[in-house]
Amino acid sequence: MMITLAGGRQVEDYANTECPVCGEEIHHAVVCRKIDANICDTHCRYCRHYMKVTQKCSYAAERKNPALAMPDFKY
Ligand SMILES: [Zn+2]
Repeated sequence: MMITLAGGRQVEDYANTECPVCGEEIHHAVVCRKIDANICDTHCRYCRHYMKVTQKCSYAAERKNPALAMPDFKY
């Protein structure tokens, strides 16, 4: 399924309704490129890749430049 982002860009959505991080059913889903699935938005906010200032995920940039990489989710 394709979803449209705020900027009009279309991205592929994932089909999972169960969150691979906590194992619960997802209520507010976000697309996580790191896990490659939908996850709860709560995990996204606490992920090291989430940048509070820009509210964006730094995962793509870190994948290109592994020196920027940081540890995984904290629960
Ligand atoms: Zn979850």
